[in-house]
Amino acid sequence: MHTTLSVPEIFGTDSFNEATMKQYLAPEIFQAWKQCIQNGTQLDLSVANAIAEGMKNWAIGKGATHYTHWFQPMTGITAEKHDSFITPDGSGNVIMEFSGKELVRGEPDASSFPSGGLRATFEARGYTAWDPTAFAFVKDGSLYIPTCFFSYTGDALDKKTPLLRSIDEVSRETVRILRLFGDKETKRVQVSVGAEQEYFLIPKAIYAEREDLRLTGRTLFGAAPPKGQELDDHYFGTIRTRVSNFMHDLDEQLWRLGVLSKTKHNEGAPCQHELAPIFTDASNACDANQIIMMVMKKCAAKHDLVCLLHEKPFAGLNGSGKHNNWSLCTDTGKNLFKPGDTPRQNAQFLVFLAAFIKGIDEYQDFLRSTVASAGNDHRLGAHEAPPAIISIFLGDELTAVVNSIINGTNYTDPESSEIRIGVDVLPSIPKDTTDRNRTSPVAFTGNKFEFRMLGSSQSIAGPNIALNTIMAEELSQFADILENADNFDSTLQKLICDTLTAHQRIIFNGNGYSQQWQEEAAKRGLSNLHNTARALPAYINQKNIDLVTKHGIFTEAEFLARYEIHLEAYCKLINIEARTMVDMVMHQILPAALRYSSDLAEGINRKKEATGNKPATELSLVRRISESCDRLYEASEQLYASLKKVPQGNQCAADYYSEIVVAGMQAVRKEADFLEKLTAKSYWPYPTYSDLLFY
Ligand code: ADP
Ligand code: MG
Repeated sequence: MHTTLSVPEIFGTDSFNEATMKQYLAPEIFQAWKQCIQNGTQLDLSVANAIAEGMKNWAIGKGATHYTHWFQPMTGITAEKHDSFITPDGSGNVIMEFSGKELVRGEPDASSFPSGGLRATFEARGYTAWDPTAFAFVKDGSLYIPTCFFSYTGDALDKKTPLLRSIDEVSRETVRILRLFGDKETKRVQVSVGAEQEYFLIPKAIYAEREDLRLTGRTLFGAAPPKGQELDDHYFGTIRTRVSNFMHDLDEQLWRLGVLSKTKHNEGAPCQHELAPIFTDASNACDANQIIMMVMKKCAAKHDLVCLLHEKPFAGLNGSGKHNNWSLCTDTGKNLFKPGDTPRQNAQFLVFLAAFIKGIDEYQDFLRSTVASAGNDHRLGAHEAPPAIISIFLGDELTAVVNSIINGTNYTDPESSEIRIGVDVLPSIPKDTTDRNRTSPVAFTGNKFEFRMLGSSQSIAGPNIALNTIMAEELSQFADILENADNFDSTLQKLICDTLTAHQRIIFNGNGYSQQWQEEAAKRGLSNLHNTARALPAYINQKNIDLVTKHGIFTEAEFLARYEIHLEAYCKLINIEARTMVDMVMHQILPAALRYSSDLAEGINRKKEATGNKPATELSLVRRISESCDRLYEASEQLYASLKKVPQGNQCAADYYSEIVVAGMQAVRKEADFLEKLTAKSYWPYPTYSDLLFY
């Protein structure tokens, strides 16, 4: 039942956002905070104390009894440890206290989070520091304070710290370019990000009966149901009541938390849905996406549903991804990826476009590595999501502009007779490039780039760190050239033309799912890192180490730590999946199939007594089931044995898992799914795909 809801009234009521701050902070304190986030100045302790006091009063008014430094460790999800506000008042009672020191800095210990060797055991403690650029919020009786997480020696142990560093860096380099185009006002450039989130919802009761879903978040077994997504009857279809109630509830909670939830619809696969927020600055967008995932899970439970954020919960159906819409926007409100009205603005647009194209081409492997995970390996290159090859879709019109620059010909807009030539020969840019190519990993969509390779469960921090850093590097190279130019216009033109010429191989508007593209991309020399084990060595590529250290995004040790952490996570995940499979085969699948075949065998004997003949159907079934059980048992034993031979060293282990163990898992699944089709439903030990998806 939906009660009437005044969205403007509830929006942001659980968020300590600008509007709330204005209410709860003295004007000079609010101004000091604003200065701090606009100019990156430090907050002194007296200001922090005043903010803490205001925050606490607000949070207590919202029913909070605790506060938590909320951080984003390398696990890709968020972490929290709650402390109450209570302090003894000396007379046996308590008062609610919260100081600036407690706001600004925390010591959650948190020694069990992955550090990739950054923390020695003698100082394993981690520290958290308030990120004043992100808004605190109240949820479930706690004040959540967004923080960065780092080690005793100051190494970043999280995803947020390098993200903030990369935002600063791309802002600085972008401003250098803007100055060259006569922009004197812009002080800071914001990275705008809107992340569309896909997810599955299935009934809690059915989920509870599947060990694979409970332990790994995806089905490791399951024969294809008679009906899949071939009818396209789910995509944008009417949303069923239970799901619609969930979505209503979800939206309300997100709005209260100040998350700009905008669009919701059914996705391609049965039980699959999508939520898209309105874009915001990268830091808050990253938090918002974590909040969205967190609230989705909680809210689903309330509606007796389970929200699956895994990239591939069901074989044979579309998996779930995340589209990261990314652009640069000045503090004066100008989107730098929006083609302009004047030749001068278009020239500036082309500088940013050229820098982006060059950067993506040069750092394909780095960008690819930021979306590498065991879950996402099921999607990339599986003809449902972008291929593992990075390329950029520009659309026909913008490609024609690029080609005209490369070839030195004038670009004529086929739709209009008008030819506008920019700075001498730079053409005018078509405004609306609406044709979309869903198979492209990086697509220009009119005023932003959409990076579509992210897995649904992943933090968006990694890809945005890469995009920001790559862009900062290319813009700094461009600024070096242009700042020293004798003739700005001719240097600019040559720069754009040379850059587009050198990097045109990365532009591809065709079908990314096709075999021809795989071959064509190989000819163009584009990298095709088809799984996590192959993609992660980007972290030890000297070119990438130079990039991130030059811009102060990661120290070499921090970068290397991420390589080790991701490799280890990959190995652990596959190991858990493989062991879960063996467990289910031995404890559930084989016992069920054997029981069925032995019941059939008894029936055969009884029928023979009665009729004198052995019944053919049962005989055939028993034989086929027995043979399948033999093969399944053998495959499962092999898989189990393979887990005992994992080589030492994270990279060697990851290679082994990706080749040997994954193949062993596929063999086990194939046989088990075959057996499912032979076995009577009443014997099968867990809900099937049709139970899960067509409830
Ligand atoms: P789609 O066809 O992919 O659904 P939409 O136009 O609905 O595209 O936008 C998808 C996402 O892109 C939304 O989250 C939206 O807020 C975001 N977005 C729009 N403009 C920008 C921008 N300038 N920078 C970053 N994200 C943006
Ligand atoms: Mg999209």
